[in-house]
Formats: sequence, structure tokens, C-alpha cells
Amino acid sequence: MAEAPRPSEALNSVLVENRVFPPPAEFSRRAHIGSMEDYRRLWDEAAKDPEAYWGARAREELYWKEPFQTVLDWKPPHARWFVEGRTNLAYNCLDRHLPQRQDKTAIIFEGEPGDRRKVTYGELSRQVNRLANGLRSLGVKKGDRVGIYLPMVPEAAVAMLACARIGAVHSVVFGGFSAEALQERMNDAGAKVLLTADGGWRKGAVVPLLANVRKALPNMKGVEHAVVLQRTTQGALSLEGKERSWSELVDAQSDTCEPEWVESEHPLFILYTSGSTGKPKGVLHTTGGYSVFASLSTRWVFDLKEEDVYWCTADVGWVTGHSYLVYGPLMNGVTSVIFEGALTHPNADRCWELIAREKISILYTAPTAIRAFMRLGDDLPRKHDMSSLRLLGSVGEPINPEAWMWYRDVIGGARCPVVDTWWQTETGGIMLSPLPGATPTKPGSATLPLPGIHTEVLDKQGNPVGANEGGQLFITRPWPSMLRTVYGDPQRYVNTYFSELPGKYFTGDGARRDEDGYFWLMGRVDDVVNVAGHRLGTAEVESALVSHKSVAEAAVVGRPDELKGTGLVAFVTLKKGVGHSPELKKELATHVGKEIGAIARPDEIRFAEGLPKTRSGKIMRRLLRDVASGKQTTGDTTTLEDLNVLAALRSDED
Ligand code: ATP
Ligand code: MG
Repeated sequence: MAEAPRPSEALNSVLVENRVFPPPAEFSRRAHIGSMEDYRRLWDEAAKDPEAYWGARAREELYWKEPFQTVLDWKPPHARWFVEGRTNLAYNCLDRHLPQRQDKTAIIFEGEPGDRRKVTYGELSRQVNRLANGLRSLGVKKGDRVGIYLPMVPEAAVAMLACARIGAVHSVVFGGFSAEALQERMNDAGAKVLLTADGGWRKGAVVPLLANVRKALPNMKGVEHAVVLQRTTQGALSLEGKERSWSELVDAQSDTCEPEWVESEHPLFILYTSGSTGKPKGVLHTTGGYSVFASLSTRWVFDLKEEDVYWCTADVGWVTGHSYLVYGPLMNGVTSVIFEGALTHPNADRCWELIAREKISILYTAPTAIRAFMRLGDDLPRKHDMSSLRLLGSVGEPINPEAWMWYRDVIGGARCPVVDTWWQTETGGIMLSPLPGATPTKPGSATLPLPGIHTEVLDKQGNPVGANEGGQLFITRPWPSMLRTVYGDPQRYVNTYFSELPGKYFTGDGARRDEDGYFWLMGRVDDVVNVAGHRLGTAEVESALVSHKSVAEAAVVGRPDELKGTGLVAFVTLKKGVGHSPELKKELATHVGKEIGAIARPDEIRFAEGLPKTRSGKIMRRLLRDVASGKQTTGDTTTLEDLNVLAALRSDED
């Protein structure tokens, strides 16, 4: 029997997951935070006196040229952190380590064609200084914006660090984006210089970066110089107009460069969100607070040790590439891997081979990749010795419990803790995550907030919802790495994040807390489906589908339905070798009914070869809603990975 719609607008949770994995004793013994008592003590200490807590963390994490007196100046919804302090992020990533880590490998680079390079902290520092001097010679000054449109090569990190060194504000645009997407972002940011390359490698082909830049340049009036790194062509590069050679620019420069000691609130970067829900937002982060939190959260969540070889597969074009590929690991002085190209090219087991060869100890990747590997089967990873791995991380989307289990068992050999990390471009760093030596994990839960972070599940009126009741996820107190504004659109900052409940940051995600206080992300609030008065998060229904042995990936959306108000349509990709059949559709619908209840049973299931995703690998449900209801696609699609996927879905209406 259908219930009446609930006045609180709470979400109805239907998923039950009872598996719990305590951290391995040996892992806890060596961990930075090795018990729940330690976690709770830190969390309570931070809650009781946030300014004392964050002030102490800020002094420990960073070198400050000038100390701060004011930890936090909070005039909701605007925060300033470590106000009087002056620092420099490139100094904190590089110079600070040189006395002990001059010859330690900072970056292990592997290009898609198989070229390899190791860059030490000393060498990285010299490269950064030369480019920083080069940028200065082009007239780039503190506060100027610099665009970065590069493949995944060490120079991408060099470019970001060089900007930070001279107080220029970088705006990285993912190398897979088109000329239009590049142009839109560069103009919005008002970039003066663009750092780019002739091309990058992906799946054996060249990504034509320079050709895209040439298309965009006439429409990017503010860009005075495009500095071009040579990666995919041979012989002398022929450059024209505003283009100039990267190597010529840096070769002439000195290895040393006086850092610009910037105010804590000096802008560090502008980064456009993935655009899963609409037009990307130019998220602005500033120096001090962002750096403190990136440094601390990387060490705690990944439990970094001096000898770790850490691999984050995210592109530098996403926030994960900023905080957990470049800045966080470098501030902590570890060795990290930068990998260009597709994880499955030229061989489907490329990435397992790399883990075995480089003895990678920490792997941080996205559910989309995990599900793609799952689809390919267990044999590929099993061929390789991955005993060097000790910790696995996931980010970007809710991870279906079965994908989590597969990751833990097949990739992690049932021995590595799995950290499911929830955060956003706007939060600058990880907000919810297990601490691997302390937190017992549950497949599919991002568990608990880091010390100092206050997350709550609230209803529309701002009241906490009960255990296992879904609601909207808010961050209720300011944190150091929070975005400061939407660049060029301060009103959008207030409207998007602080107009649901005054003074509380609205994440746009639905969540519930279980009886242990653990957080479970249920999908985006925009994607909630209302079936016969039940408001369901998409993630739970998708996870029920993925728990069927034939299913690799699923996306669920609502479609107007005369009887129920909304009917559920599920788009499903199957594992390799599983055939499509009407029987399987029925079986899957029944399976969902059995797993989580009749209410969540899809009205229609459609098999798909692929799902429409953002370039960062997130399912774009707003496009699937249009497909499901037979409408034309509306809204921004520049972030869509592959338009053909959408066309294929439209033609597959059997
Ligand atoms: P836009 O804001 O433009 O729609 P976006 O939200 O996809 O784009 P990002 O900042 O890259 O841009 O992604 C953050 C979102 O990703 C979160 O709000 C959440 O929906 C999802 N997400 C990230 N990590 C997790 C996770 N571990 N579990 C569940 N969801 C996650
Ligand atoms: Mg978002």
C-alpha cells in the first residue's frame, strides 16, 4: 500500500547492508590514527574549540613566513582563515623538503606509449622555479589568472606549482575538453596566459590540444601568450601568433626563484565543477586554508608513510587531481605516480602491471573505473602480483556495495582497508571518509566526518532526520578548505550553497545516517525519484541492480507516470559475455524487488553498451531523464564524455 507523501520531504531508504570490516590490527598498529578512541578524541577536541584545533593544525602543516593571529573570521556565508598569515604553497610542497628529500623521487611518470621518467624533489623544484621565472618574464603577476590545458605529464604539476610560486591563480581545464569548453572556462576566468602542449596520448591516438587551442584563441581575447610544451610531435614545433615554445621559455631561466609570500586568503585556483547537474561553477579556493586541509587530510585518510608509492588515477583537471595527486602528496613528501592515458590501454591489465612493477602501495580511483574493471573479470588483476598494495580509496560517486566488495577482495586481496571518500570541488578536500587504521568500514558507506568537519543530514526545515531516514547533507560549520566564492558570480555562491538554510553549506547530495552514525550517500537531491509518495535516492536502486551477478553498472532515473506520478527506468550495462534477453530484464526487476522492495522495482529496464558520463566519469542522470521520457536533451553537454553513447541509448528503445 502506498503511503502518503511525507511532509518533511525526507528520503526513504530501502538499502540494507550489514557487513562490517574492522581495520586489520597490523595496519592500526602503524597508523597515524590507530583507534576509534583517537579519532573521537580528535573530533571532540575540534568540536569543542575549533579555533584552537585548526590553529594548531595550521601551524603544524605549513611553513608560514608571517604567522597568523586570527584563525577564523566567519561572517556567514563568508569565511577567512588564518587571516594575517603569509605563506606559499610551492615552497611548502618543494623547498621545505629539499634538506632531506632532494634526491627522493617525487613523481614516477608513465606515459601512455610506455615512456617513463622519474623526477626527484630537487629536479621538480628546479623545473618549477624555471617556469615560474618564465611566467614572470611574460608579465604574469600576483593575482593574474593562468590557464592550464595539458595532458597528464609531470609538467602539469610543474605548471600548477609555478603559478602558486608567483601568486598567479591557476585554472586547470581537463585535457580531454573541446575548444569550446576550454574557451568558455578561460574567458570566465579571465586567463592572461595559457600553458598547453601540442598533444597528449589517449588510447593510442593523439589528443589535439594545440589544434583546439588554435580554434579557441581568436575567441579568448584576454590570453596574451599560449606556451606550448612538445609531447607528441617530432622535430621543431612551428608556432604562430601568440604561441611560444615552453622549452625556449624555461631553458633561459634560472633554477632559483624567490617565492611570492601571499596572504592566506590570496586566491590559489579556480576550478570548474564536473557539470553533472548543470553549467559548471568556477569554484575559487584560497591559499592557506586549502593547503592546511589538503596536507592533513592526505596524510590521515591515506595514512601516508615515507616509503609509500601512492597512485591517484584522477586527472589534474579535476579537484581530486589538485588535492590528492599534486598538492596533498607533495606537501607530505611522498612518491606519487602520474599516469597518462587510459587505464586499460594498450592492455586491459595495464594498471595492474603498473602496480606490480612500481610496487604501488596506495591506489585511489573512482567507482566508474572499478566497475569497468569488474566488467572485464577477475582474471586480469589475478595475473599480477599486487601484494605491494596496502590501502585502496574510492572517490567521485557513491560506490555500490558489490563494487566495493570486489575492489576489496580482488584488488586488495581482502587485506587492504578501503576508504570511500565523499567530497566535492567546493569542499577542497575529503569531508567524509574512514580513517583506515581506526574506522570499521561498511561497503558503500563513506562512514564519518574527519575531525573538525561537521556534517548533518537535515530535512527542508533544517531539522535532523532520524536514524536511517534520508535527507539532505549539509556541512554546518565552516572548514579551512571551503570554497570562498563562485568566481565572477558572488550571488551564485550564496544562492547555490547557502540559501537552503542560512549559514549552513548545502551539498546538493542526499544521505542518511545509520544507527552507528555512519553516512550513506543516496544520490543527488536533483535526481531523487518520487514513486507513489516514496522519495528514493538513485544510488540505492542502482546498487541493488549492481548486486546482481550479470550487472556491471546501472543508472536509475524517474519518468512521468500517470498512475504512480513517477516510474523508474533503469539503464543497465552487463558484464562481459552476458547476453541481453527479455528474461534477464524480468530477472533483474525481480531481483531489485527482492533486494530492496517492490516500490523500487524498475518499470522498465534498458540494456546499454555505455552510460552518458562526465569527463570525470560520473553518470549524468539528467541526460538519461530526457532519454527515458523521449525528450530532446536540454542544458549544458560540454562536459559529456561521448555524445555517441547518448545517441545509442536513444536508438535502443526496444
Ligand atoms: P556539478 O556540481 O557541476 O553538478 P559535480 O557535482 O559532479 O558537478 P564534483 O565536485 O566533481 O562536481 O563532484 C562532487 C559530487 O560527486 C558530490 O556532490 C557527490 O554527488 C559525488 N561524490 C563524490 N564522491 C563521492 C562519494 N565518495 N560517494 C558519493 N558521492 C560522491
Ligand atoms: Mg556538485
